[in-house]
Amino acid sequence: MNRERKPITPDRVLGDEWLDWKGSNAPSQITEGKRTFLILSFAVLAGFVLLGILFWYLALPRFEQYGRFYAALLTAVIAGGALFFLVWYAILIGAVISQRIYLAICLRRGSNLFVMLFPVVARLARSFGISRDRLGHSFIEVSNRLVAPRRTDGSILALVPRCLSRELKKEVQSICAEFPGVILHTAPGGTQARSIIREIRPRAIVAVACERDLVSGIHDVAPRIPIIGIPNTRPHGPCKDTVIDVGKFRSAILFFRKE
Ligand code: SF4
Repeated sequence: MNRERKPITPDRVLGDEWLDWKGSNAPSQITEGKRTFLILSFAVLAGFVLLGILFWYLALPRFEQYGRFYAALLTAVIAGGALFFLVWYAILIGAVISQRIYLAICLRRGSNLFVMLFPVVARLARSFGISRDRLGHSFIEVSNRLVAPRRTDGSILALVPRCLSRELKKEVQSICAEFPGVILHTAPGGTQARSIIREIRPRAIVAVACERDLVSGIHDVAPRIPIIGIPNTRPHGPCKDTVIDVGKFRSAILFFRKE
């Protein structure tokens, strides 16, 4: 079944959704690899573990005043928590390197740790002069590696933004028409995208948008619904006549179709 919902608001103008865009030097294409997010997220996790150890060091004498049991309990909680998050992180890194590990372990909530860490990682990235779009691109690359189909029934939802160029919309439309069970929608914004997802309840999503929209979409639905994000390129600036590699779009549809 292929159908496309008509946009319910007028077409966007250049940069109208990017509040911080001043028509300046934002790069039209971002190519940040997975490493940026992985290194920064590890730094954040290591920071939290060190804070936990510092808390333990400072609080232990007080707990000892109440008895050995309470001191041991505090040690167990801090050590257990640190170990839990470090192992969880290590499994996710393994999954990013080899998706099979992830599938084998079947961590249904696997990508949540990265999603949870993202806001702090974004702050750290900013202090190193890494823009949220660069970090977002890297995060999307990581998130795409952790996608594992959960169900075999239901439709695949292809979400494209209004800013996609007319020619590419047609190409995307014809790719979707090749595969029964792929539903194509143009999402005018995040709120509408969420209501389309609620209405269709797809088994998987292939989403095209800029990094900032994709990051918030992934936060909303992953890992409840597997989602592959395809960041757009903005040769004329954001929100107008953006482009994508349609080969990547087709591969994403095929990834879910294969399962
Ligand atoms: S997806 Fe397109 S229209 Fe939406 S905010 Fe990003 S660049 Fe603008």
